[in-house]
Amino acid sequence: MDQDFIQFADEIVLGESVQRSSCSKCRRPERVCWCSYLPKVPVTINGKIIVLQHPDEEKRNLKTGPMLFHGMASGQCIIYYGKKFPSAKHEGLKEMLEEQYTYVLYPGPQSRSITTVSDIHPKGAPYNLVLIDGTWQQAKSMYFHSTFLHSLPQVDYFMFYIYSYIVSWR
Ligand SMILES: [Zn+2]
Repeated sequence: MDQDFIQFADEIVLGESVQRSSCSKCRRPERVCWCSYLPKVPVTINGKIIVLQHPDEEKRNLKTGPMLFHGMASGQCIIYYGKKFPSAKHEGLKEMLEEQYTYVLYPGPQSRSITTVSDIHPKGAPYNLVLIDGTWQQAKSMYFHSTFLHSLPQVDYFMFYIYSYIVSWR
């Protein structure tokens, strides 16, 4: 498996870089462990959430990617690390981005609100939603340098607001 791919999952399995005072699941210090807030039944969607995470976000110890990962059904949240996507090290990412009905959560003049996306999205068809995880400055740079993402339909702020709400209490 690529070293940068679901890095935290490897750490959970190996347990080598998990500090003793940290939760073994979310890897946050025990006193700020959020595992009890995870949904009892993992969230299932008709598709996948693809998180493109800036390397600094992992270092910041906020663990928003793992939060989504553990809150969703197995295999439905996939996390890739980097500043430019997809690259050779992101195994399987390009193929996923090329799948029909793949949307990127990034605001812009072309972006649609989630309600109009549901108007054009065939009912019942699986979809992928790409999330860019980083500060605004990092997200802008990541989007700019990841030209492949520019071909994907953009979903706008409304959905971003929900996402922010989910992760901002971190
Ligand atoms: Zn925890």
